[in-house]
Amino acid sequence: MKYMTAEPFRIKMVESIPKSTKAQRQEWLKEAGYNAFRLKSEQVYIDCITDSGTSAMSQEQWSALMLGDEAYAGCRSFYRLEASVHEVFGMPYVQPTHQGRAADYIMTQIYCRPGAYAIGNMHFDTFRGNAEIMGCLPVDFATDAGMDTASAPEPFKGNIDLEKMRRLIDEKGAENICVVIITITCNNNGGQPVSMENIREVSRLAGQYGIPVVMDSARLAENAWFIKTREPGYQDKSIMEITREMFSYCETATMSSKKDGLVNIGGLFVTRNKEVYEKANQLAIVHEGFITYGGMSGRDMDALAVGLREVCDEHYLEYRIGQVAYLGEKLKERGVPIIEPTGGHGVYVDGRRFFPQIPQSEFPSQRLVCALYEEAGVRCVEIGACAFGAFDKETGEPIYPAIESMRIAINRRVYTNSHMDVIANALGDIYEKRDQYRGMKIVHQGSIASLRHFTAGFELL
Ligand SMILES: *Cc1c(COP(=O)(O)O)cnc(C)c1O
Repeated sequence: MKYMTAEPFRIKMVESIPKSTKAQRQEWLKEAGYNAFRLKSEQVYIDCITDSGTSAMSQEQWSALMLGDEAYAGCRSFYRLEASVHEVFGMPYVQPTHQGRAADYIMTQIYCRPGAYAIGNMHFDTFRGNAEIMGCLPVDFATDAGMDTASAPEPFKGNIDLEKMRRLIDEKGAENICVVIITITCNNNGGQPVSMENIREVSRLAGQYGIPVVMDSARLAENAWFIKTREPGYQDKSIMEITREMFSYCETATMSSKKDGLVNIGGLFVTRNKEVYEKANQLAIVHEGFITYGGMSGRDMDALAVGLREVCDEHYLEYRIGQVAYLGEKLKERGVPIIEPTGGHGVYVDGRRFFPQIPQSEFPSQRLVCALYEEAGVRCVEIGACAFGAFDKETGEPIYPAIESMRIAINRRVYTNSHMDVIANALGDIYEKRDQYRGMKIVHQGSIASLRHFTAGFELL
């Protein structure tokens, strides 16, 4: 198998995972209202609902925890984290936060305003939520290929479409565009990377109009790996040289360290602008914690300081991206339609091509999430009509998103390729009997309609 790269680590501690029967899983799924977020972890065999906060830490990280300095102000752990951030981001100012969405919140408060547009490739849902609450208008301007789950493979489907961006600036006036946010990698369409060329061009265009650029950089090392392996001119650069160049084109970066930080909790707000930093400090003091901890414990900052360096290791990244590609290849062998090429942190199955008989109004990808859980105890997440469906403000008619998929998120350093085989075989088996499945309907939206995938309840049709 040409994509298979064996794990560059050996296993020192194990966590047992429970097995269950199909009959048990059918019962549990019904009790959970056919929403995988409402299943208990002990009811899951292989958990691919997210890659967030689920990484296995290294022995170096576990050791670093013991060095945590829990001083309220000026702790050593902060300065060690700051040194790692300088290496990876190449920007001077760091405000830790308790997780990524807190950095999103601070960023929204500083960069967004009511009635103004925030341009992005595809905004992450927690930024979108923060922006919409404020009355800001987030728009997704990924390229047409990036917006289409069935498009031919391209190396950088996370890119922003410069023409769409230019048109909006012309149409609305630069003064009505408050920020451009480049999400690396682009989560919603497959963990697809953004090229250095695109980052540079987007930054240049925004700069011509004085529009600030922010990078939402939860998966910064995975994006850098794709630049190194897919973009001419970067083969001989180190991952950190590439990340520093990426960030040289933005003013500010936010990061959920629950992804490429290789830790279970935490976030970062990083900037080169001193005034922005001081505003971030103020918001952090009110909402997060003092400047040198921002909602993180000293020990967590130490684990993150180590994780940020480890994630830039090329042997790790080769294994990481290779494992995702391995699962993608196995699925393709069974005919399962996926977004191609596979991206950084998971494989995305195209719900419409998998279940052509189920219309988007009947949640084909959510149906697939349920089918896979029933079949093999594998828990995934819908990124489609439930998560990103909306309603027209005037007519009340439903608006369906361009992307209709099931994400199989792969935890970092957690599962082996044997687990990938289980997932591929189960999905392959479901695909063979795909004609037998019908759709679903929502019977309960939950309290937050804009992020309803966390709380919704369903029934089978
Ligand atoms: C996960 C994520 C966030 C939110 O971070 P949390 O740590 O979950 O609060 C924001 N942006 C991106 C791109 C993410 O992947």
